Amino acid sequence: AEARYGAANPQSKARAQAASQVMPGGNTRTVLHYTPFPLAWSGGKGNRLTDLDGHEYLDFLGEYTAGLYGHSDPVIQGAISKALSDGIVLGGPNRYEAQLAEAICQRIPSIELVRFCNSGTEANLFAIQTARIMTGRDKIMVFEFAYHGGVFYFGSHGNPLNLPLNWVKGRYNETDYTQGLIAEHGAELAAVLVEPMQGSAGCLPADPAFLRMLREECTKRGIVLIFDEVMTSRLSPGGCQALVGIKPDMTTLGKYLGGGLSFGAFGGRRNLMERFDPYRSDSIGHAGTFNNNVCSMAGGVAGLTQVFTPAEAVRLNALGDEMRNRLNKVARRHEAPLQITGVGSLMNLHFVKGPVRTPADAHPSDPATENRMGELLKLFHLDMIAAGIYLARRGFVALSLPMREPDVARFEAALDEFLATRGALVR
Ligand code: PMP
Repeated sequence: AEARYGAANPQSKARAQAASQVMPGGNTRTVLHYTPFPLAWSGGKGNRLTDLDGHEYLDFLGEYTAGLYGHSDPVIQGAISKALSDGIVLGGPNRYEAQLAEAICQRIPSIELVRFCNSGTEANLFAIQTARIMTGRDKIMVFEFAYHGGVFYFGSHGNPLNLPLNWVKGRYNETDYTQGLIAEHGAELAAVLVEPMQGSAGCLPADPAFLRMLREECTKRGIVLIFDEVMTSRLSPGGCQALVGIKPDMTTLGKYLGGGLSFGAFGGRRNLMERFDPYRSDSIGHAGTFNNNVCSMAGGVAGLTQVFTPAEAVRLNALGDEMRNRLNKVARRHEAPLQITGVGSLMNLHFVKGPVRTPADAHPSDPATENRMGELLKLFHLDMIAAGIYLARRGFVALSLPMREPDVARFEAALDEFLATRGALVR
């Protein structure tokens, strides 16, 4: 598979080799690297991508959820072009930022006040600092295998560049263990930072009882409950929190909400966020040159109010639910040790016998098993690429708004073919 891939993609290979001269491994964003070298893109239209060698792919990566709108939505392009032609680095408030804030507060009622920044990483940074200031406490609970940004990574691999904050690591969906840990550290905890569906850890839906426990413990102990909805805010018209029916104290956002441009936001309860009010004598400062950058704000307003309407959110997530069911049926028909987890338009394939409920289920710690899973994911990824379907090496899929049933059927057929031809290896 690897030799075939190398032969089919000479331009991407040449680009990777040239890039290695000036960037370590030819890379400036670790998640976009895979072996033997990543495809490089010349452009995209709708849900199609074209690579440097001229091949076309159906884009099931969706830029790790930031590509919700697809690559050429006319409403978004129009809004950004208009903003561009009106002038983009104005050095003052612009007409779009309050519109975007209003649209976000309307869609996610637990966000009474919101502020913008440039990435999901920054959003989490500011939310954590808000919680620390407002509680006068230091410790932050996060969860094993969680990813909250480039300086907030709690998986088992690599050498994370995490900020030296005072972390306590709970276990996702392990309610009793985590409750015990909160009881132990409760008086020192400023915040619990959690995704209502763990995304990078493998699209693992939260057990409702687990989230309810977190909500109750945080309320009881004066801990700020922060939902990281950077990935999950697309899962219903009101975010994943509306789906699970639990209100966090603060929420962090990012990805598609800037219309496809750099974006982050943090917000929540008025009595926490109003401390940023510059008219107050005790106000907290929050700076960032591009916090209200015109293009992200304009693209964000157009996207949220005209393109990703509540009806479209419902449609896309229903399509995702249908796709996950169909893929799991294909896996069962082949009796393959393959589970597809997720919620709505986000999903992840796991080559394990299952069930997959916790990060430990999805990431076996035994090195031989882990190695085998890695090899299968690689083979699957390269076979899917050969079939014209692009997704993440780790088996992650994010649907974009241009997706329709025939696209899902193409993915389903390609998985069926993979399991038919590679079945012996998979089992
Ligand atoms: N939180 C979550 C849950 C994420 O998935 C990501 C990005 N994958 C981030 C935070 C960081 O966002 P950004 O890449 O915009 O810094």
